[in-house]
Amino acid sequence: METPPLAPGLYIVATPIGNLGDITARAADILARCDVIACEDTRVTGKLLNHLGIRKAMRRYDDHASAEMRERILGEMAEKSVVLVSDAGTPLISDPGYRLVREARERGLSVTSLPGPSAMIVALTLAGLPTDRFLFAGFLPSKDKARGDALAGLAAIPATLVFYETGPRLVASLEAMAQHLPGRELAVARELTKLHEECRRGTPEELIAHYTAHPPKGEIVLLAGPPPEPAAPEADDIDALLRAALAHASPSQAAGQVAKAHGLDRKALYARAMALKSQA
Ligand code: SAM
Repeated sequence: METPPLAPGLYIVATPIGNLGDITARAADILARCDVIACEDTRVTGKLLNHLGIRKAMRRYDDHASAEMRERILGEMAEKSVVLVSDAGTPLISDPGYRLVREARERGLSVTSLPGPSAMIVALTLAGLPTDRFLFAGFLPSKDKARGDALAGLAAIPATLVFYETGPRLVASLEAMAQHLPGRELAVARELTKLHEECRRGTPEELIAHYTAHPPKGEIVLLAGPPPEPAAPEADDIDALLRAALAHASPSQAAGQVAKAHGLDRKALYARAMALKSQA
């Protein structure tokens, strides 16, 4: 039976990252009913469409596509329903589409997004690292110096860091993390949703040893847990901190400053600040 046409505009559609069973019902429906599909690689998307029993006009599109191709697709969006997919996962997440979406919105065209799989989210749910705050940083640079600089720039962020990675570069990235993200728990999530799915968590040294002995195959997400909490200062150090603060502040203010800077109990610090002041 013929499916009814869709309203014109851009439909951003997430597709599986390995397991074809992860296509959503809505994604399959929109792929079946749209007029045109813009995709990174017509062979890769052709396989998904074959699996779904769908035949559609496809346009090859990536962020380096010619201005003419982008113009052609934008022109079609005014009158036709255009789906944007990437080879796998959610378009625009380390994948093409940003310029197309931006331009479509600027022209007042309808843009909607159908959620589905993304390797970064699957990895976060699997790794057992804190997920209340995370930063997705895409692929690290491949050159040693640039990779080290990128990690050094991220080191102070109090969040789990998520990177896309490849097998041949994994050990070099783990070594760079050992150097630039010291003391952090790391996780390697590999071949997600596929037969050989694996998620391994550990110190940089443990993971370096494992993946040097077992060079990893397939697709990888690399995660680094948040930076370790700074150790609480010793009693002598607390006295020194309070004395320094008391040099220019009242006991109450000194206690407040030290409590805030070191995450300590203000009341106890105030009592100690009063005692130090009376000794002075
Ligand atoms: N847009 C995709 C998404 O939403 O996940 C990501 C595209 S990016 C070009 C491809 C990278 O995603 C791979 O190099 C790998 O780091 C990660 N990736 C994709 N599928 C994966 C899988 N099944 N398991 C682990 N990582 C995967």
